[in-house]
Amino acid sequence: MTTTLDRSAVQSSNNVWQMAQSQLDDVARLIGLNADVHAYLREPKRVLEVSIPVRMDTGAFQMFRGWRVQHNMSRGPAKGGIRFHPDVSLDEIKALAMWMTWKCALANIPFGGAKGGVICNPKAMSMQELEHLTRRFTSEISIIIGPEKDIPAPDVYTTPQIMAWIMDTFSMQHGYSIPGVVTGKPISIGGSLGRDKATARGCMFVVDEAMRVLDLPIEGARVAVQGFGNAGLHAAALMSAAGYRIVAASDSQGGVANPNGLDVRGLISHKTETGSVTGFSGGERISNKELLECDCDVLVPAALEKVITAENAARIKAKIVAEAANGPTLPEADRILFDRGIMVLPDILANAGGVTVSYFEWVQDLQENFWEESEINERLKKKMVRSFHETRAEAERYKVDLRHGAYAVAVGRVAEATSVRGLYP
Ligand code: GLU
Repeated sequence: MTTTLDRSAVQSSNNVWQMAQSQLDDVARLIGLNADVHAYLREPKRVLEVSIPVRMDTGAFQMFRGWRVQHNMSRGPAKGGIRFHPDVSLDEIKALAMWMTWKCALANIPFGGAKGGVICNPKAMSMQELEHLTRRFTSEISIIIGPEKDIPAPDVYTTPQIMAWIMDTFSMQHGYSIPGVVTGKPISIGGSLGRDKATARGCMFVVDEAMRVLDLPIEGARVAVQGFGNAGLHAAALMSAAGYRIVAASDSQGGVANPNGLDVRGLISHKTETGSVTGFSGGERISNKELLECDCDVLVPAALEKVITAENAARIKAKIVAEAANGPTLPEADRILFDRGIMVLPDILANAGGVTVSYFEWVQDLQENFWEESEINERLKKKMVRSFHETRAEAERYKVDLRHGAYAVAVGRVAEATSVRGLYP
């Protein structure tokens, strides 16, 4: 028998959770947050750790470890994706759950924050193994999820198909179809039009707004995209269709760059066929490190945490950093970028399009009434633009960067809900 259980011990030194807590501490000081509410918001409400036994294709039995963390539910049911990744850790999931609380509050959707994760390598698993893993994980966390309780969604390396298995498993346990238990589902079982591209579309809407504020022309503006998964790939496609020029793109294998603009359609076909952007003939090969520092106007980190650090922040050439990923910028790097006058559109603002259309999906499921894609995109745009300006107003009020501005709005909303509800018992 093989086991993946002991990996989390190695990764408990991951500091992303401390980073999330220290971001909250900073904002608590800034807005004069009540000390009791601050202490309350520093910790997750619930952490469920599960062991997931899976029969692999070889007939061998393998144990996996997973979690569902609910950070806060003061404003409504918990909401957040599920990540399948070999390096996922409890600290990371706790941080991501806390960020979901702030993200939902900033978008002003009636959800709290949650996140789930399983230590596994989906790229090395068959569809059947992935299905078994997903179904057993769903069954293990089913005691705390549900349309009124906690609603999972896709995240790194999880797909609409995986959401369909979650929906089916939960529904089979209850004896009837419950589409509202999960978002990011296929359209055929209650998914929403526009959800697949929503993170990228929302990100583009805030970049558009930032370009207007900075008085920069969109036509021909050079964009570099780090990460070519759901967020990065669609961001490249949508932004290139809107007149931006995609000059570099990368994934976990490496990247490609072309200062005259990459043929994004060709690049997407190449990625779909080969599994990577590397080896694409329409550009020069570059590393992920080079991509982050390349000559561009807009840098879109769309992969994992902690890629913009104190070490590389001084060399970033972009005028705008749009965080399609969660947690790509370390706090030390934030300070450097702010001092250099680079506008960072923080994750809880820039990638909130995904969870916003997840909210629309949940509303449609509960009402059993589905909307046109144009209506969804229109509603998304309104929310993103409003959040951008609310963030900016708070940043100006406190003379801080947009991350602190966004946190001031979000933490303020959650604190208000927490205080008005009072402490039970
Ligand atoms: N995983 C996405 C995020 O980090 C979407 C979450 C959701 O739709 O619930 O925002």
